[in-house]
Amino acid sequence: METPRHWRLRKQRYGLIGEVCPHCDVKIFPPRDVCPACGSEAKTPFAFSGKGEVYSFTTMQSGPTGFNENAPYTVALIQLEEGPMLTAQLTDLDPAEEVTIGLPVEMVTRKLRTDAGAEGIILYSYKFRPVFTA
Ligand SMILES: [Zn+2]
Repeated sequence: METPRHWRLRKQRYGLIGEVCPHCDVKIFPPRDVCPACGSEAKTPFAFSGKGEVYSFTTMQSGPTGFNENAPYTVALIQLEEGPMLTAQLTDLDPAEEVTIGLPVEMVTRKLRTDAGAEGIILYSYKFRPVFTA
């Protein structure tokens, strides 16, 4: 059964798709079909640029089961340039460079882990990496 929600979840693996409020133009992520600013129905898809900056962050010394190969890792609260905030893992960090509040970041789609089960499902997730400016 193909529902709009399934379609949206699949699209999110390849891009940052949220919604935009047709009434007050507020950008919404994750999609929730209701504008957090004015409370109106908001079902218009909106593709975010995937760019933002670090709002706050924390470094994890060990990951949940299946993620330990990536530990330690840094999880950040990222404010997208369109406004919404989301939590995501940071990647491609230079060990010599410290993560700072306000660090410019951009979204990348990464393989999260490969399920060892019979179907060999590969899970993808978005992460963010620092934007290098010359
Ligand atoms: Zn609104």
